[in-house]
Order: sequence, then structure tokens, then C-alpha cells
Amino acid sequence: MTEKKEEEINNKKERKEEQRNTEKETNSKRERKEEQRNTEEQTISSESPSYTGSRFPTDGPDFSNEISAPYEVPQFPIEQIEKKLAIQRQITVKNKMITKITLKNVPNDVGSESPSYTGSRFPTDGPDFSNEISAPYEVPQFPIEQIEKKLAIQRQITVKVLEDKRSHYEPSLVGAVDEQDHLGMEEHDFVPHFQRVSISGEDTSGVPLEDLEKASRLLITALKLRQTYMDMSHQSFCNTTARFICPESAQHNEIKHDDKQSIEEHGIHPPSRGNPWEAPDIPDNTYVFKAHQGVYHVYVDEEHVQKNEPINYPYPNLETFVTDMNTMCQMIADGPLKSFCYRRLSYLSSKFQLHVLLNELRELASQKAVPHRDFYNIRKVDTHIHAASCMNQKHLLRFIKKTLKNHADEVVTVTDGKQMTLKEVFQSMNLTTYDLTVDMLDVHADRNTFHRFDKFNAKYNPIGESRLREVFLKTDNYLNGKYFARIINEVSSDLEESKYQNAELRLSIYGKNREEWDKLAKWAIESNVYSDNVRWLIQIPRLYDIFKLNKLMKNFQEIMDNIFLPLLEVTARPTSHPELHKFLQYIIGFDSVDDESKPENPLFERDVPTPDNWTDDENPPYAYYQYYMYANIAVLNHFRAERGLNTFVLRPHCGEAGPIQHLICGYMLSENISHGLLLRKVPVLQYLYYLAQVGIAMSPLSNNSLFLNYHRNPLPEYLARGLVVSLSTDDPLQFHFTKEPLMEEYSIAAQVWKLSSCDMCELARNSVLMSGFPHKMKQYWLGPNYTKEGVAGNDITRTNVPDIRVAFRYETLLDELSNIFKAYHKSG
Ligand SMILES: [Zn+2]
Repeated sequence: MTEKKEEEINNKKERKEEQRNTEKETNSKRERKEEQRNTEEQTISSESPSYTGSRFPTDGPDFSNEISAPYEVPQFPIEQIEKKLAIQRQITVKNKMITKITLKNVPNDVGSESPSYTGSRFPTDGPDFSNEISAPYEVPQFPIEQIEKKLAIQRQITVKVLEDKRSHYEPSLVGAVDEQDHLGMEEHDFVPHFQRVSISGEDTSGVPLEDLEKASRLLITALKLRQTYMDMSHQSFCNTTARFICPESAQHNEIKHDDKQSIEEHGIHPPSRGNPWEAPDIPDNTYVFKAHQGVYHVYVDEEHVQKNEPINYPYPNLETFVTDMNTMCQMIADGPLKSFCYRRLSYLSSKFQLHVLLNELRELASQKAVPHRDFYNIRKVDTHIHAASCMNQKHLLRFIKKTLKNHADEVVTVTDGKQMTLKEVFQSMNLTTYDLTVDMLDVHADRNTFHRFDKFNAKYNPIGESRLREVFLKTDNYLNGKYFARIINEVSSDLEESKYQNAELRLSIYGKNREEWDKLAKWAIESNVYSDNVRWLIQIPRLYDIFKLNKLMKNFQEIMDNIFLPLLEVTARPTSHPELHKFLQYIIGFDSVDDESKPENPLFERDVPTPDNWTDDENPPYAYYQYYMYANIAVLNHFRAERGLNTFVLRPHCGEAGPIQHLICGYMLSENISHGLLLRKVPVLQYLYYLAQVGIAMSPLSNNSLFLNYHRNPLPEYLARGLVVSLSTDDPLQFHFTKEPLMEEYSIAAQVWKLSSCDMCELARNSVLMSGFPHKMKQYWLGPNYTKEGVAGNDITRTNVPDIRVAFRYETLLDELSNIFKAYHKSG
């Protein structure tokens, strides 16, 4: 008895221990999971039949990270069950409505052309199945056969592509056929042959009809909202979507598209400008500007000011904006809409995986068929990079050493009324050139900066000395930014040497005083920082609280005055700020920067104090900054367009961290955004960013050091779904190691996420499309026809993006849009 008991107890103990061990193992496993992800992905891919899973693994175990599945949220169990039942009833009643995926073969001899190619993916003869399915041509058992087969197919396709280069095009066969008459889309839908994934059946959304109708109503409201805000501020809105919103506008569409031309006819390199600082010659006028509740109004003269008759430049007032923002906030919280968008996004990912599965070889073949062009010699734009950190750490180190050697006796700063030469500055730090190393510079982000934006900000100071930052990395210092200009010019000439790389550098305007703009322009022109490969954005740090704390200003309006008054003046009277007038032609827009994760109250009511009454010590919320920047830019743009001058766009840092309301502001107010990481958590917004094709400049290496580990970055998922994403570096000084940071960014993305050459070229094409380089330049880079929609706007000899990929993206977008608009029109 006792023995038995003891045994039992022992057994129990053992079992418990075992359990504990397993638990421990699980725990440590969980801990190790992050590092192991890669290995796991491989295992998964070799186990699961969907080999594309390895490419975009996010719908495997990662999925829950990417987006919170709304229908799994425990808050709505009953709704969900009801919904399911409703669907089932619908299906039973309407037998015909069963939707099924059919893989539609294009009625050509595609099938016979490459039978073995699809065959090898899904071979029907039993025993080989499991081996073949995961990457068939890499299975060691049949290496030679497989390789031969692959080569044979590629040869076949290449020959076919070359033979039929012209005859290969025919009118679109896909979707939206009935919409085409309805929406007047007969022209330029010429697309190549490839295997299309299409869905047949009446209702294709997988949610009950009334949910679909309600969802489409909401989505269309949101799309119209963005269109209004973009139109009102001279920013661009996706043409395709615009045509769905207003079919009549298609006829009145004034955009003049140029025709496709070969590289011989229309080169790939734009001719260089003669004197870059030559500015349009326009006469001065006497216009007057007065701020009205935070937004500037333009008056013809003083008389009109007295009569209170401003020129009628439209912009949404604060009340409208707050109402619209609340509408959007409600929308993204709507349960059924969340489910709908989540489902559409999942569908888009899966559709892309099928597309790649079926067409990968064709895409590769058409890339191979293009002479001369490859990933290295297509245009890329670094769409998000800060000027103060655009050089890598080695470059900065070399530059400091060189300057210390050649200009040791130059006076570089004044401290406590005493002039200091560069040599003295270094002596005061007990340093010689020999001592200096990259480690000592200590500007690189490391594991200690993760979720510590404050620490990251401190890294902008070489050797932890703000004095060095001031001497080398500022435009406004004792030397008038001489060294900074020199190092920027070195970066520019590296870009020029690479020929195909371009950058949109951010320079700061703080809004501290009225002279900032003139100083910046003087710096640019005197040190001649112009380069064909560089355009500028103005970043405005959200630092009101700091200025207020230091008693530099009384209210928020002063920041707006300091930023916008000089711009309005120079637009009215170019001779009043001659240098600024010249420099502004190379400024493409505004960025808004700071730590988004700082606590703030993201919602504000319409009774929020206007900027002249914002005397609080606290910083205004993100949305407040964005709205007043947007509204003033809108007025300024109307005025500048009327004067025949270039206009500006808003491209803020948005959705890197902090509340998701930032992303609503981005959606409503800005042409495109930087980061957008948090879209992964908001399906409704993510789907809207897709439908409106809002550009997102993503910097996964920067995120990796600050906010989100690389392997969890949503970029591959966004790309798969067809969001317009591009790769950018953010801060090469802090994040990159090599001489070509942008290539480093592409290289790591390609390796970690197994991007194909086609994916990379698509990212590069996106970066040019969303960049602010002038239309004329883009015509050289992408082809004179690049503004056309779909395949008609692609020139593979310049972009190296296969027509197949462009056609897939375009047709998919048409499908999504017509899905929604069909339901919308049906419901009346
Ligand atoms: Zn940035």
C-alpha cells in the first residue's frame, strides 16, 4: 500500500517535473522564437504545400502580429455567429451564389505552351507529390531533370516573349468588363497574357449582403473625403480611384498623357540644367496676408483687408476637419467594416501568392528579354532621408579627419564670447585625429536605442558633443554651414556617380524666427548644394513646447507665422527674398517630425483653442500640427499655382509609433507618408490606403533599431497586397554600414524576405512614382507615358518591371474598386 502510494507519488512528481521541463522548454522556446523565426519559416515552407508561404510568411504563424483579426475578437462572438449563419442561409437559398475559385486560362495556347511548368508545381502522380511541391527544382533527387525542365521552360517563354513582343498585347479580358462601358474605360487596357486568378459567382466578398453594402458606403465616403482634401490642396489623388468615384470626370479629365517612346527617341537621362539657380521671372505684386484663426488669408491690398474680402482660396475649416476626423475614427472602429476590410486584405495577399505561383517564371523571362536593363540600372529614389544624417558614419569620420588636417586653424565656433578654431575644439575634448574612430564617434543606433527615441536623438551628436554636431551638421552656425554643405555635396556626387540613385533630403525649419528661410536659402545658393539627383523636403519638428518653455514665443501662431509668412511674401514679391525664390523651386514639400510615441491627447474637439490662443505650455497634438500645416499649405499652393510657381505637398512621418489617429491624419491630409508601420493593426485604414494608393516610404532597418524587429516588419505583406510602398533609408549615419545605404536597404530586404528581382524593381518604380521629382524627369526615368494607367503606363525597357506584374496590380485594383462600387450602386 505505502509502496504503491509512494510509487504513485513518485510518479506524480516525475510527471510534474516533466511538465515543468516541457513548460520551461516552451518558455525558452518562446524566448528563442524571435531568433528562430527564419529557421521556422524554412521548416514551414518545406512542410506546407504553399511554397510562397516562405516568401511572404506572414500568413503563417506571424499572421496575428500583422493585423488583429477582427472576427476573432471576443467582443463580437454573437454577431459573428449570426453572420456566419446568415451567410450559410444565403448560400443554401441561392445555390448559384456559391463562389468558387477558377483558374482561368487565357484562351491562347498557353496551356500547351507550357504544360510542364504548371505540371511541375502540382504534379498529379502520387508518390512524388510531397517532394515535388516544395521548390520542385531544388529537390536533390532529380537535380538534372529539374534544372533541364526549368531551363527549357524559360527558353520557351523567352522565345515566346521575344517573338510576340508586339502581337502579344490584346484588350483586357479581365473583370470589370461590364463596368468598362459604364465607367468609360475602353482605352489603353492592353495587357499581356498571363495566368489570371479570378473569382466567379455573384457575391464575392464572403460577408452578408447588407454588410457588403454598408461597408462599400463607408469606404466610398472615406475615399471621397481624401479626394476632397487632396484636390483642395493641389496634391495628387489616384486617377483610377477618382474615375470610379466620378465617372463623368473621366471625360473632362484634363491630364494629357504622352505616348510611349523608345529610349532612342526619348533618352533615359534627363538633360542637365544649365544654371540651376535661374528662377522664373515674375513681377512683384502688393498682396497682403493676414492670419485668420491660424490660417493665412490672401488679400489683393490693404483696402480689401479692411473690407474683409480675402481672395477665395478654398480650404476646410477646423470644424469641418474635426467632423471629418470623427467620421473616420468611427469608421475604423466599426466591427462589420473591420471584418470586411480584413477579409479583402487577406484575399489580396492570397491572390498575390497565387499570381506569383503561376507567373513567376513568365515575369522573370520578360525581365531577361529586356536588353541592358537590370535592377542596378533602374531609377531608385530614397524617399525618406534626413540631410543631417545622409552620410554614413565612416564618411563623416573621414570628413572630420580631413577637415581637421586641412583647416585646423579655421575659427568654427564662438563659446562664451571666445572664438575657437577647429584645433582648439578638439583640444578641449582631448582628442587628436589619430584617436578618432567610428566607435568613438558613437553615432550608430544599437540595441540600446530600441524603443528609446530619446537615446536615438542623442546619437545625432558625434562623440556625444553637441558642439561637433553644430560645426559639422548644421546649416546655421558660425561658418554658415560651410562644412555641412561640403559633406552634402560629397554625398550628392556619390549619388551622381551611381547615376541611378536619387534622394529626397530633409532640411529643418523650426519656426523659431522669421529669418530661418532666408538663411537656409542663402546657405543653399552660396554653397551651391544643387544636384540633379537631389530634391529637398522641409522638416518641421514639433517643438512648440520646448520653445514655449524657453520663452521664445507666446503662442502657437508664432510658429505658423515664422514658417508661412516668408513663403507667402516671396510668392507675392520674389525680389523681397531673391535667394528663397530661387531655392524654393527645388523644395517639394513639408515633413513633420518628432517622436510619435510621446504621450498626447490624440483627439481634439472643435472648441480647441486656435493657434493665436494656444498659449498652453503643452505641445498641441499631432493632428493639430498637421491640420494647420495642411490648411496653410493649401492656401499657399493656390496662390503659388496662380502665380505659375511650383506647389508643395505634405509628407509627414506618420504611423511609426503612437496613436493610430495619426494615420487618419495622414490619410486625409497628406499625399504620402513615411513609415506607416501601425497600419498593420488597422485593417480599415490599410485597405483605404490601398484603395486610394497612398504612397508609404518604409525604412525597415530604421524600424529595426527603434520600433519593430526586422522580421516583423509589415513591408512584404503591404507589398503583396498592392499598397504603394517604397524602400528608404531614413538615417544612414545611424543605421547603415556601407557606401550605398539605399542599396544596403534593398539588399537586406531582398535577402530576409526573399524578394524576387521583379519585387525589387516594383519597389524601385514605386519610389519614383511617389517621389517629388518633376514630371519631366519622371518621363525620362519611367517613360513619357508613365502617367497612363495600368500596362499602358509601364515601359519595361526603363523600369524592368514586367507588364505582367503591372497588369496584375492594375486589374486587381479595378476588381476591388468595382466590387465596392457595384454594391454601392446596387444599394442606391
Ligand atoms: Zn525619418
